[in-house]
Amino acid sequence: MHLYFHVPFCARRCSYCDFAIAVRREAPTEAYVQAVVREWEGWQGHPAWAAAPEVRTVYFGGGTPSRLDPSGIERILERVARDRVMAPGAEVTLEANPDDVTAAAAAAWCRAGVNRVSLGVQSFDPSVLRWMHRTHSAEQVPSAVETLREAGVADISLDLIFALPASLDRDWGRDLALGLALEPEHLSLYGLTVEERTPLERWIARGEVTAVGEQRYAAEFLTAHGLLASAGYEHYEVSNMARPGHRARHNGAYWTRAPFIGLGPAAHSGFGESRQWNLRDWTAYLRAMTAGESAVAGQERLGAAAVALEEIYLGLRTSDGLPVDRIPSASRERWERQGWAQSSAGRVRLTAEGWLRLDALAASVSG
Ligand code: SF4
Repeated sequence: MHLYFHVPFCARRCSYCDFAIAVRREAPTEAYVQAVVREWEGWQGHPAWAAAPEVRTVYFGGGTPSRLDPSGIERILERVARDRVMAPGAEVTLEANPDDVTAAAAAAWCRAGVNRVSLGVQSFDPSVLRWMHRTHSAEQVPSAVETLREAGVADISLDLIFALPASLDRDWGRDLALGLALEPEHLSLYGLTVEERTPLERWIARGEVTAVGEQRYAAEFLTAHGLLASAGYEHYEVSNMARPGHRARHNGAYWTRAPFIGLGPAAHSGFGESRQWNLRDWTAYLRAMTAGESAVAGQERLGAAAVALEEIYLGLRTSDGLPVDRIPSASRERWERQGWAQSSAGRVRLTAEGWLRLDALAASVSG
């Protein structure tokens, strides 16, 4: 079993972000812990535990989990370990913003059982960080990494965003080099997307900003692929690169369709073909939990066609690829001729060029 805790609190909303967040100066740790523990109690009788009794990964995502008082993380993990068996070496990840990483917080996270920290860096360029409405400075990133290392965090991942508007004059190669200089075990690289009802969407609608075109997106993606491969990182999933032995096991669970329970507002849970998701709004979620009601906002059962599409999409997005017989040979041969895929040992894997066309390629063979 894999657990995801959505911690929705952020100090302010970043200019591109449409996630389910609650902007709070102080994160209400006590209310959050009480609510998710109550939801957790409701999961204990779920039949999925019979086939997946051990907790293999726990992921605190957000929002900004590092804004919770670390005692909240500790209480949640204690409760999980009391009720369930934690697998030996279970991966426990916390997403953190660099400005929340203090020596005291890092030590408390480690004591609580966190062994992997994913830092939201996005860029090392001060003007880009301001444009993004990030709360941290570029200088806070190396000091956060150093503080985490001193506390004993052996697995650090950095998030960076590429494909920023050309008018920002962002030097992507410099940001990658500065990220690599910190020797993270893992990097997650996301292309900027324009989401509805964000400041970025408004700036674009008013003509103040122009979204990046496909060419620049592709060039930056391929630059990262080449640079990180030559630095010894495996590009093991379309958005993720790791040193050998440091792939994100929690995310890997999603890509292999392992069972997962999501707790907190907007969190999703999935067991084979069945999916459900929680109330998106923190206040509505809190109200439901306080009243002893269900947090579930919706559920669905995937049909055979949807499962097949998902398997193809998930398989193609990782470097493990798919068994060759899952892709019609005419499509596979065409992909190989174009340099979008390679086949070996009975599996077909997309190349970096192929990942740039992931959605279209997956859709083309799932009809
Ligand atoms: S810190 Fe993350 S979740 Fe919070 S507003 Fe910024 S991008 Fe969104």
